[in-house]
Amino acid sequence: MIDLRSDTVTAPTEAMRAAMARAEVGDDVYGEDPTVRELEERVASLFGHEAALFTPTGSLANVLAVAALVGAGQEVLCESRAHIARAELGVHGAVTGLTMRTWSHPGGQVDHAAIADLHAPDMGPFFVRTAAISVENTHNFAGGAVLPLADLQQLRSFADEHATAIHLDGARIWNAHVATGVPLAAYGAVADMLAVCLSKGLGAPVGSLVIGSRERIAEARVRRKRLGAGLRQVGILAAAGLHALDHHVERLADDHAHARLLAEAAGVDPATVDTNVVVIDRADAADYVARAGQQGVRVSAVGPRTVRLVTHLDVSRADAERAAVVLARL
Ligand SMILES: *Cc1c(COP(=O)(O)O)cnc(C)c1O
Repeated sequence: MIDLRSDTVTAPTEAMRAAMARAEVGDDVYGEDPTVRELEERVASLFGHEAALFTPTGSLANVLAVAALVGAGQEVLCESRAHIARAELGVHGAVTGLTMRTWSHPGGQVDHAAIADLHAPDMGPFFVRTAAISVENTHNFAGGAVLPLADLQQLRSFADEHATAIHLDGARIWNAHVATGVPLAAYGAVADMLAVCLSKGLGAPVGSLVIGSRERIAEARVRRKRLGAGLRQVGILAAAGLHALDHHVERLADDHAHARLLAEAAGVDPATVDTNVVVIDRADAADYVARAGQQGVRVSAVGPRTVRLVTHLDVSRADAERAAVVLARL
């Protein structure tokens, strides 16, 4: 079976497992795990921020990042298919107590005019206060779309003018970085808080980080513990993340090339594939998924007429070529 359902399905490599087994550990709730500290410092510095905090999931990293910027009874603006709006089961409302309003863009992009219309930082005592704008790069449900740096910088200027904050859901920011060559620090510079994942294309079994100022990360540490995610000898997992940063970032270019190959075979214009996600518009999505499965290729339906394929560390060139033959037949 060639599993193209998601880039979360990767298993840790032998070398990653060896790095995990060797990891020096301590009690991270006491701040005494040297491997976690090394990972947090390294990731903070990659993005040009003061501090970072390890979390078990990207969803929790997003919860902590958004809650650092938006209080109960305030709102965050985001694109309508954003992971924070669709795929985190309402936690931002249920736990943080914030509300959301959304703009819709077919490509998951920043819509400056729509944001300016929605944005309400101070409309008096009758309206919810906009405290932050959230963007997702790459945008998962928009097919791994990259948000151009110039758009993010323009949004940063808008936010600065209005004293509004920016949250960046960078679960796949590594893919955007490799696809465009934009330095991670340039993405870091447009956001007040970021969330990044080690368990997607980077191939770690578990782990994400929330990134921001020393003060906000100290608050996020308290909230993380309050939510029951104070972790102990978690250096074993941080070691997988450090190994991934050393060995699995530049190779994302292979995943992007494989995605374009699969797109072409499936009749999708490869020029529309920015990174490692391919979206196929098929009226017979469920049937397509079933027939691909019968021929050894697992893909998923993410809507009644939307099929999604994701390339990753465990899909070799040979696998991609075999899957392409199957998709071309379908
Ligand atoms: C996967 C993902 C997350 C985090 O997901 P977890 O499964 O909680 O680790 C957040 N944002 C985006 C865009 C994602 O694709």
